[in-house]
Amino acid sequence: MKVILAKRIGFCFGVKRAVRMAEEALKRNKRIYSLGSIIHNRQVVECLSRKGLKAVKTIGQIKDGPVLISSHGISPKVIAAINKKGLQVIDTTCPFVLKAQKVARRLKEEGYQVVIVGDADHPEVRALVDYAAPNVSVIKNRKEACALKIKEDSKVSVLSQTTQSAANFLDTVNGILEKKPKELRVFNTICHDADQRQTMASDLAANVDLMLIIGGRNSANTRRLFDVCRKLQKNSRLIENDSELREAWFNNKVRVVGVASGASTPGQAVQSVVNKIHRKGVV
Ligand code: SF4
Repeated sequence: MKVILAKRIGFCFGVKRAVRMAEEALKRNKRIYSLGSIIHNRQVVECLSRKGLKAVKTIGQIKDGPVLISSHGISPKVIAAINKKGLQVIDTTCPFVLKAQKVARRLKEEGYQVVIVGDADHPEVRALVDYAAPNVSVIKNRKEACALKIKEDSKVSVLSQTTQSAANFLDTVNGILEKKPKELRVFNTICHDADQRQTMASDLAANVDLMLIIGGRNSANTRRLFDVCRKLQKNSRLIENDSELREAWFNNKVRVVGVASGASTPGQAVQSVVNKIHRKGVV
């Protein structure tokens, strides 16, 4: 059995930077707080929490001590609340997310109706909404674009959650265009890493018998990677780590296994999966 790794594996630039900044801050402070998970990977979060990183839901839960902003970024309202409390900030917002935030704020200032293509519940998108509010909507796909209310004569602009698939973004933009807005501005705020990861993984998925995608089930980019691969390879599985491998997946028809991973999956977790397959230690 041959195992082929996708060309892009391990942490993306933004996650690597966030974890490094957290580790450095934990050397200087016994306790730091993060608003939500620093990244969407349970194993990495558990490891950092053993070193003193405590995830909280609201600023109200922090009495003192530095607060870490995750790579997904936060709303301007929350930044104002942090400043009001005088808390020290460790800002690990990914530069690609910062760019999307700047675009959202500028479009609001220029009077555009802003449409964000993404998952409304994701922290990155919730923050983008606050930058673009009040004239902002979040849609997932072309179907939702068709249901979107666009006022006559309105100026519409579209941007994307950084981890969206380029194909879905394009399809959704075309759906908005069919509504014939007077003006439509499109900003491709998809991150280069997420885009390349999806392209490389889907190239692989089309040419293997079993495709494994490794990453947190709560990670938007991992789920997107899985969706993209599953369209090309029905025999695709999303696993968080090697303990989820099952022998039944590796029958005689499976000669080539493809392995891809989300942007917040450590390279070590990928290696453990590959080692376990090679050792035939699959349970
Ligand atoms: S996936 Fe892209 S936008 Fe998200 S943290 Fe990584 S580099 Fe930044």
